[in-house]
Amino acid sequence: MPTRQELERWDREHLWHPFSQMADYEPLIIERAHGCTLYDLDGRGYLDGVSSLWCNVHGHHHRRLDDAIREQIGQVTHTTLLGASNPTTIELARRLVEIAPTGLNHVFFSSDGSSAIEAALKMSLQYWRQRSDALPNKTRYVALGDAYHGDTIGSVSVGDAELFNEPFKPLLFDVLRLPTPRGLIADELARAERMLSEHHEQIAALVIEPLVQCAAGIVVHPPGYLRAIRELTRRFNVHLVADEVAVGFGRTGRMFACEHEQVTPDFLCLGKGLTAGYLPMAATMTTTDVWNAFLGRSSEGRHFYHGHTYSGNPLCAAVALESLHIFRDERVLERLPAKIDRLAEHLRRLAEHRHVASVRQCGLIAGIELVEDKATRRPYPAAMRMGHQVCRRARDQGVLIRPLGDVVVVMPPLAIRDKELDQIIAAVEFGLDACDN
Ligand SMILES: *Cc1c(COP(=O)(O)O)cnc(C)c1O
Repeated sequence: MPTRQELERWDREHLWHPFSQMADYEPLIIERAHGCTLYDLDGRGYLDGVSSLWCNVHGHHHRRLDDAIREQIGQVTHTTLLGASNPTTIELARRLVEIAPTGLNHVFFSSDGSSAIEAALKMSLQYWRQRSDALPNKTRYVALGDAYHGDTIGSVSVGDAELFNEPFKPLLFDVLRLPTPRGLIADELARAERMLSEHHEQIAALVIEPLVQCAAGIVVHPPGYLRAIRELTRRFNVHLVADEVAVGFGRTGRMFACEHEQVTPDFLCLGKGLTAGYLPMAATMTTTDVWNAFLGRSSEGRHFYHGHTYSGNPLCAAVALESLHIFRDERVLERLPAKIDRLAEHLRRLAEHRHVASVRQCGLIAGIELVEDKATRRPYPAAMRMGHQVCRRARDQGVLIRPLGDVVVVMPPLAIRDKELDQIIAAVEFGLDACDN
């Protein structure tokens, strides 16, 4: 067993952490977890205030989830979906179809959210070429300002993060960009309508993170926006790709964000919470209309030429399926409104703080935007990394949260208890006050 010093050194020297500046990376080594608490090598506990990056749903080391994996291990851990199948993955597909918005009858599995988006983009394009009255000019995509849809080249292309994307520009395809809806909804929709009416003959799909753009800094869309976008995309014969990788699985208070506005997208992309934060798995769900365009004789080559080695892995499927059983048996969604209200109450208080410009919330997703001067909304100098500093202080209070720039994000597991939620917010307040001098 390596010593703690060795682990910390190897962590800094060999392990390349995602989205991390390794020159100033400070090791935080989590050895085990239980419920909503993570424990480091010294046995110090930290509340998991961001669900281990927006994934965890029912807490860590959950007995039923652990057992589901053990049971599957006793059967088989991996086969392949290329030309074969297994009972657990079949059952999961069936269950996802039952709970998803009506009409999404087909499930394509992959291993991460980026790939779920990638599959939707490719399916849409191939659909327009292959359907009976083909529209092969539909090869472009529309996406929103500040969008984040993952890190593969296609998902980066539809994304809009200047800083992240800059080095990869030569590889990215051109996307029609609608601004993030921050203004009057009528103006935002007029703009969307103009874009679709002008370019629809070339547009395969519009990609959107429904209700709240999480990675953009918890930007909440005005009510009715998603529904109106659905109507516009229908009218102009453009697919709607709903990226519910972050907002899916109860995070917004409903199982899927699209439900809030009675929307069925043409593609529903799922990831993160699909396995309750246990194992890497993602899914792209679609309609029978799309599915039918891919049917034909093998020799016609109409099938979807895309797939991943671990597509539909039975271990991942077992834990995903058990998570959905827990949603049902433990009435997880019915217990959310009280927690959402409690979070809202905390946020109302936080909004008064002299360094809080605004608070934004959708279900159990919250963003607290920091500013140096509240009256003029003057931001902190970027070099101060104020969001990071506040989260660093919160960590000393036993709470793990991560900022997006100067927006402090709170996105706890749905299983969070009242007093744990209070503790997370208290740590944010502590962090704010500690940094305020
Ligand atoms: C995290 C995320 C992705 C990418 O998922 P990965 O599993 O990290 O590839 C895509 N879209 C949204 C909205 C996300 O939050």
